[in-house]
Amino acid sequence: MRGSPLVVNVAALGLGPGARRHVDRRGSLDGASVTGSSVPSGAEVDVDLTLEGVPGGVVARGQVLAPWQGDCRRCLTTVRGELRSEVLEVFERSPDSEQTYPLVGDQLDLEPLARDAVLLELPQAPLCSEGCLGLCPMCGADLNNDVCGCQAEVGDPRWAALDALGQD
Ligand SMILES: [Zn+2]
Ligand SMILES: [Zn+2]
Repeated sequence: MRGSPLVVNVAALGLGPGARRHVDRRGSLDGASVTGSSVPSGAEVDVDLTLEGVPGGVVARGQVLAPWQGDCRRCLTTVRGELRSEVLEVFERSPDSEQTYPLVGDQLDLEPLARDAVLLELPQAPLCSEGCLGLCPMCGADLNNDVCGCQAEVGDPRWAALDALGQD
């Protein structure tokens, strides 16, 4: 039977205590999203890790790379990018807390690790560019492309203050 590409068999890798193996797997993460952005449906994430066998488990160290897309928070145009999340996590045969991931038999499932890493890095308020002019609050014109008759309002410092509040 073929498993998920994100499931690693530690016995097949010879990953006993003290051993180190590099794994580079690609798989999809359905439904990985936050307010503001998500990993596109069907897109592949790249899980690039060094696994080290330790008594009772495995330490995973490396990075997760994933494409994302969202809507610019100012002009609502579609923004795309790639995120990178550094990971250092522990898989245990007997997880005793929420801090570690389970190692079930010889199966080490990287999917929950990849999902958690991606959720941490997905931008919640993406911008198409730092200088995005956004939509005219009066008429809705995209000020990156259009000049409307309400330009004077856009220079109002109150808008800049509100925009600054949107950044965290
Ligand atoms: Zn924009
Ligand atoms: Zn306008």
